[in-house]
Amino acid sequence: MTVADTGSANGDIAIPDEVARNVFIGNIAKLLDPLYNWSRRNSIWPVTFGLACCAIEMICTASSRYDLARFGMEVFRATPRQSDLMIISGTVTKKMVPVIVRLYNQMPEPRYVLSMGACASGGGPFKEGYNVVDGIDKFLPVDVYVPGCPPTPQALINGLIALQEKIDQQSIATAPWYRKDDPTAGMLPVPVLGPDLVDLRQLDIIRAKAADYEAQVTESAGVEAAAQA
Ligand code: SF4
Repeated sequence: MTVADTGSANGDIAIPDEVARNVFIGNIAKLLDPLYNWSRRNSIWPVTFGLACCAIEMICTASSRYDLARFGMEVFRATPRQSDLMIISGTVTKKMVPVIVRLYNQMPEPRYVLSMGACASGGGPFKEGYNVVDGIDKFLPVDVYVPGCPPTPQALINGLIALQEKIDQQSIATAPWYRKDDPTAGMLPVPVLGPDLVDLRQLDIIRAKAADYEAQVTESAGVEAAAQA
């Protein structure tokens, strides 16, 4: 069956009457999005990967009692190459960050990150530790945060359903994984022990922004001095 976009006849494209019943004019991405998103949302394979006590709850969620197979998420893969989702389940130490980012870089697009628990999202009870990262979102683009210490399996499932809802809203045409302007893509962070957390991958960017800020301050100081003179 052929479909003609009746709205297009009034828009930029005029369709001759003799072919109006035989052509389709429309947004192909809008047509494909529901099918594309439906297939992805129901086959999210997490990478087999746990960091601390939250990982026990994640493992529990994968058990028969909670039946992740209902969502097509029961296939925990032992390699990032076959994974769609990284669940950061536990305390992230600075020593582990390069490994976590390396695994993330090895995952194919489209890929997602779920931050599970207080530690992964903000450092949790160990936030002030010299070796603890106060939030994995300093290094990875987190899609869903699940609060709790630890979050229950039900809470994790709720977060996974939230991820499915997020995938439903995405479009092939505008999905972020097709952007090529991420200056840190493929780079690995270097752990620095101590109270401060600096993403060394962004050192050049930080320096450039600091130089811009310094130039602005100097310029405004000059304007003020001229006004007072
Ligand atoms: S949030 Fe709580 S349960 Fe989870 S890793 Fe941290 S201390 Fe453990």
